[in-house]
Amino acid sequence: MQDPAALYQAFCRRDPALDGRVFVAVRTTGVYCRPVCRVRTPLARNVLFYRSAAAAEGAGYRPCLRCRPETAPFCPAWKGTQSTVERALTLIEAGALDHDGIDALADRLGMSARHLARLFAAHLDASPTQIAQSLRIQRAKRMLDETDLPVARIASRSGFSSARRMSATFVALYGRPPSKLRPRKPRSMQQR
Ligand SMILES: [Zn+2]
Repeated sequence: MQDPAALYQAFCRRDPALDGRVFVAVRTTGVYCRPVCRVRTPLARNVLFYRSAAAAEGAGYRPCLRCRPETAPFCPAWKGTQSTVERALTLIEAGALDHDGIDALADRLGMSARHLARLFAAHLDASPTQIAQSLRIQRAKRMLDETDLPVARIASRSGFSSARRMSATFVALYGRPPSKLRPRKPRSMQQR
């Protein structure tokens, strides 16, 4: 992880190179943002940087509803150099942890589940399970924002085991159910 003072400087400039590499959590609001978010710049002492959206969520921060950090491009700084972690991420993105467990994933990568967990902690500050959950939320949030699909359909397409599970996850994370996070539309469009 880069020097926090240098990160804070880059964040103050809204440096686009940081987008997807770090996430900015604000202690006073309990919200985390993309570093390119247009919110008022918080004081350095109130800011914490995380290497993944999952890590910020694991620490108890909610995603900002303005910059939508859960939809940030996923491009950790080490991308291309840590091939095992990258392979694991690709498999998780493809749903490896939506149906099978962590042991099956570790098997496919030729390592123990414990070693895999250690690699994820070292590079992403989050467990494979937290990353998988974060990716499910990303997919679901994108579909809520961009489609008219019913919540149950979105839940199964994004890898949640049920609509109820997805709702509980959203309530825990955003403080409101998925239906309340859909963008408002003109009345005529809602009546389809
Ligand atoms: Zn934001």
